[in-house]
Amino acid sequence: MIIVMEPTATEGHIADVVERLSTAGTRVQRLDGERVTLAAPGGRGNGGPGLEAMGGVSAVLPDAGGMPMVAPHRPEAGDTRTVPAEPTGRGLRVGDRWVGGDEVFVAAGPCSVEDPATMDRIAAAVAATGAAALRAGAYKPRSSPYSFQGMGEDGLAVARAAADAHGLLLVSEVIDATQIPVAQRYVDILQVGARNMANTALLRELGRAHRPVLLKRGLAATIDEWMNAAEYVISAGNPAVILCERGIRTFETATRNTLDLNAVPVLRQRTDLPILVDPSHGTGRRDCVLAMARAGIAAGADGLLVEVHVEPDRAVSDAAQTIPAADLQRMVDDARAIRLALAPSAPRGP
Ligand code: PEP
Ligand code: MN
Repeated sequence: MIIVMEPTATEGHIADVVERLSTAGTRVQRLDGERVTLAAPGGRGNGGPGLEAMGGVSAVLPDAGGMPMVAPHRPEAGDTRTVPAEPTGRGLRVGDRWVGGDEVFVAAGPCSVEDPATMDRIAAAVAATGAAALRAGAYKPRSSPYSFQGMGEDGLAVARAAADAHGLLLVSEVIDATQIPVAQRYVDILQVGARNMANTALLRELGRAHRPVLLKRGLAATIDEWMNAAEYVISAGNPAVILCERGIRTFETATRNTLDLNAVPVLRQRTDLPILVDPSHGTGRRDCVLAMARAGIAAGADGLLVEVHVEPDRAVSDAAQTIPAADLQRMVDDARAIRLALAPSAPRGP
């Protein structure tokens, strides 16, 4: 059982609830985020009648396998919960766009931020396709310490300028909690990379961030572990989480990773959070990206995160999986056509 306190709850309110639970023999874990959350793992019953009515209590959530905030909120009669994880089946608004609405959400761009002229050419090509966002990493979690590590804040400024010049949102990764205040001055969506999915200190700080979080699946993370990572962010106060399947490590060596599209329908049943697919890291091969982008949308993903470049062979990182920007229109068109072919009878979007 999880008790979410009102933002205005006093220490006295919190102490009263803790005492009620403790008296009932329940161990209580306190999480301080935007609001205080009290977790009573394996708590017996509901802590007694009227817990919801106690001063300062906003909602009492069932345990839902330990992930009550990621789990879909299906209101029932008498449900007093007032703290839905905001993206409840209607998607998430970012700027003037929606992730998880009727429109396929596409974020495209180079793996790493490059020089201003190249970024501008890429952003122009991305915007021309109708894609919503530019993606570009300024802080790069590279496998080798000797590889290009990204342009840092200068890179964020370059990417922001390119995105603004072409009316795009900007998605960029943070690899350390200290980068969050800097990054949120420039980006619309903060990306957490596969290598940091299990960095709980970073996840908690992102719970206090004022931007949506695009949470990539870890290289060897189960769906449960990934959902728990989302739970960290949401329970710390930020309900705006977007999940991104980017492939997992398997015995297969023909592709860089194995894009686990099983995750999409599995997640659909277990959460209302928007789901993206990254066919670039999922395959590591330019010649496989279009096919797996189509497959991702066919599996039910809300959108795509894809690496594109005007001169892909000159991309400073991940060139082998980067498609020519000129090929993006085809992908966007196909994604839209597949979405339309599969459209549910009732619109999902706003
Ligand atoms: C990226 O998006 O460029 C990236 C580093 O992705 P991942 O964390 O999925 O490897
Ligand atoms: Mn990359």
